[in-house]
Amino acid sequence: MLSVEGLRSRYGRIEVLHGVDLEVGSGEIVTVVGANGAGKTTLLRCISGVQPASGGAIIFRGEALKAIPAHRRVALGLSQSPEGRLIFTNLTVEENLRLGAYLFADERVERDMADAFAMFPILKEKRNLPAGGLSGGQQQMLAIGRALMARPACLLLDEPSMGLAPILVAQIFDVVKNLKSLGVTVLLVEQNAYAALRIADRGYVMETGRIGFSGTAEELIADPRIREAYLGI
Ligand code: ATP
Repeated sequence: MLSVEGLRSRYGRIEVLHGVDLEVGSGEIVTVVGANGAGKTTLLRCISGVQPASGGAIIFRGEALKAIPAHRRVALGLSQSPEGRLIFTNLTVEENLRLGAYLFADERVERDMADAFAMFPILKEKRNLPAGGLSGGQQQMLAIGRALMARPACLLLDEPSMGLAPILVAQIFDVVKNLKSLGVTVLLVEQNAYAALRIADRGYVMETGRIGFSGTAEELIADPRIREAYLGI
């Protein structure tokens, strides 16, 4: 579904992605793990189109994305839940969700909203309240719900566990795992490598702008180098 080939990206004169290769098959949950600053967020931002690539290619459902701006990538089926959630704090929960569906003006929007509320019942309870009053975990749920309102074929999820208590991390990761049964393909970027690999089919380990290791999630969890460096085992 998604293929990243030799991707390079830079901030000014400093290159931070040095040729990244990665594949995400239809229906898979693929995770990119790695230390702070390895380039995981930059990779996702290049795929969604908010950060320019300086080399390489990104192919989504057979189409090269290079000349396609971010907003058109959403229409092609790519939607991102960004690092730091970036919800609109002055808008209500429901208004935030509706923004995710800005491409659509059909009756399915209401069904999608009902699905988001079924996935995250607390959002339904708080639907008319300003999103700024939600807890960190609830804001993360809202960011994921909003991204799903765009009806993505492939959801790009950046650090959903950031800053959350362990019980909420488990809850969020359960939801991500269940997206598979809804037919959503997921590319998940995480520093919480163990939690991410436990729900993923395959994983890539990013080390300073390059992929250091890749394999099935089981292979990576079993690899002594990964266990020591990334899983704290
Ligand atoms: P984190 O988990 O902290 O988000 P990451 O693996 O996602 O880390 P990136 O955020 O992609 O890594 O950062 C990769 C490198 O690019 C880092 O060295 C970072 O300092 C640098 N960088 C990120 N954003 C910018 C920016 N806007 N301007 C300049 N350098 C940046």
